[in-house]
Amino acid sequence: MTFLVEKTADLFESVLGTRPSGVWSAPGRVNLIGEHTDYNEGFAMPLAINRRTAVAAALRDDRRIRVTSSFDSALVEIEIDDISADTVSGWSAYPLGVVWALRQVAASPESLCGVDLVIDSDVPVGAGLSSSAALECAVAVALNDLWQMGLSTMELARIGQKAENDIVGAPTGLMDQIASMHGRADHAVLIDCQALTATPVALGFAASDLVLLVIDTTVRHSHATGGYKDRRASCERACEALGVPSLRSVTESDLPRAQSILDAETYRRVRHVVTENARVLATGAAIAVDGPRAVGELLNASHVSMRDDYEISIPELDCAVEAAQNAGAVGARMTGGGFGGAAIALVSTHLMDEVTEAVLADFAHRGFARPEIFAVSAADGARRDY
Ligand code: ADP
Ligand code: MG
Repeated sequence: MTFLVEKTADLFESVLGTRPSGVWSAPGRVNLIGEHTDYNEGFAMPLAINRRTAVAAALRDDRRIRVTSSFDSALVEIEIDDISADTVSGWSAYPLGVVWALRQVAASPESLCGVDLVIDSDVPVGAGLSSSAALECAVAVALNDLWQMGLSTMELARIGQKAENDIVGAPTGLMDQIASMHGRADHAVLIDCQALTATPVALGFAASDLVLLVIDTTVRHSHATGGYKDRRASCERACEALGVPSLRSVTESDLPRAQSILDAETYRRVRHVVTENARVLATGAAIAVDGPRAVGELLNASHVSMRDDYEISIPELDCAVEAAQNAGAVGARMTGGGFGGAAIALVSTHLMDEVTEAVLADFAHRGFARPEIFAVSAADGARRDY
């Protein structure tokens, strides 16, 4: 048992007075490349990381759901049938949203037992590492086992997304949940968000003496409000104007026509999505043919596209990326939905300290809050731990 799994089982016992019947966990993720492409039915290439959210759980003999998190001392209680977007709020909307979404697809919802859920995590929250998907997927695999629902990993990913869209109210895509469900050690996951397929891509970072650094700016974002929703709306408007079902059908050769039809801002949004899809596929090809050091320019270009065309970067993210690049990173980009959160830098192992120091120094020089910088490795997806 890992430290986190043991700690979560112990927390269950100290809060509820009994041992859980099991502990399940799911990882956060970083997106190597392919940002804001998931809801446009495009391509993305995230990796599950060695930071996880664990849930200790046990069935009850009534129909109550009780949930608590190491986050918060409150024990939230609700009847299974009473869960709706109006009755739940705050962090518990994520786990309770998963309960709600599973109930929707259950063969006989009236026969589902209640359950106690206790959550602990070492995924940083709101950092763009998808603590939300880690939480949803951990709860989804736990309940899939306890309620013996027999859903596939892809179905469970969709349950997590449904919880986040319909109960939390954040219109996020499916990338994070697929990464958290399908992750594999030392692999990224190439996701085709139209076909809904997840293909492991061997990374070989360690074998090439590379380390993937996360630079968490500590600037927090929210996907339920603001810019994320606006970007989605722009893409929907663009599809209508272009007469396409999704931006997946638009390729780089269609861009001149798109430019002649769309206003300048909407066109920039489309150009990001279209070129980002191409960069994801190019990244897969580059790794396969030339190894992981060949992806640097694609990461750098992705950042420029997010900064200038999609306009989702912030000065702290630009600073992190530029400082890492100047200190010799193979490539760097902001990762996640934007407006805060983290950047990633792919760095030669021997330059790790130098890059870290350079980023810290530039942040201090610019008067930004000190970022959290740590290495991540590609880890396995959601599973039962005990
Ligand atoms: P991100 O997914 O990038 O970390 P989100 O805003 O999508 O950021 O999700 C963060 C939210 O998910 C938190 O504000 C909280 O409501 C919920 N959450 C994540 N992890 C936990 C946890 N361990 N316990 C309770 N709630 C959590
Ligand atoms: Mg999230």
